[in-house]
Amino acid sequence: MTLDGRVLLLNGSTWEPLGIINVPRAINLVLAGKAIVIEESEQVLRSVRKQFNVPSVIALRRYINVPRRKAQWSRRAVLLRDNYTCIYCGVRPGDMLQGKLLHKSDMTIDHIVPKSRGGKDVWTNTACACYVCNRRKGGRLPGEAGMKLRWEPRRPRTNYLVIEIGNGPDAWRKYIEISS
Ligand SMILES: [Zn+2]
Repeated sequence: MTLDGRVLLLNGSTWEPLGIINVPRAINLVLAGKAIVIEESEQVLRSVRKQFNVPSVIALRRYINVPRRKAQWSRRAVLLRDNYTCIYCGVRPGDMLQGKLLHKSDMTIDHIVPKSRGGKDVWTNTACACYVCNRRKGGRLPGEAGMKLRWEPRRPRTNYLVIEIGNGPDAWRKYIEISS
């Protein structure tokens, strides 16, 4: 049996991500009655008497008070926040764009208010864009370029977890908390 997977630990009642822990610790929390399983992985764990799916997401039964850290901006964190989806046309890695298969490396960071016009490297001014949309927009505001934002870029609430959750299984993504 493999116990090297990672499990997303959520806070009680709010389901706010608290951290990423290993499988044995997660199972201990569940067996000790301190946490409940929210999502299971495909992995099956067999013991002498029974078998069960390895948890992928667990939540504490009780809410614990933790200081909230502000999410640190980075280009990579913006791409992960936006799930590598172009904020203007909605293409993603795996989609075809102008006859070419898109890869994660084709996704760029767009400054909604361009840097040349004072736009900053902050969560609310940056979003993932495909290179075609980024080039088309150039040094203009979206409105000037006749382009629309498909969503409002926001600051994620939890810091270090954005990247780790973004790199984790798809089932984790919905637990990335976004605050306005
Ligand atoms: Zn695009």
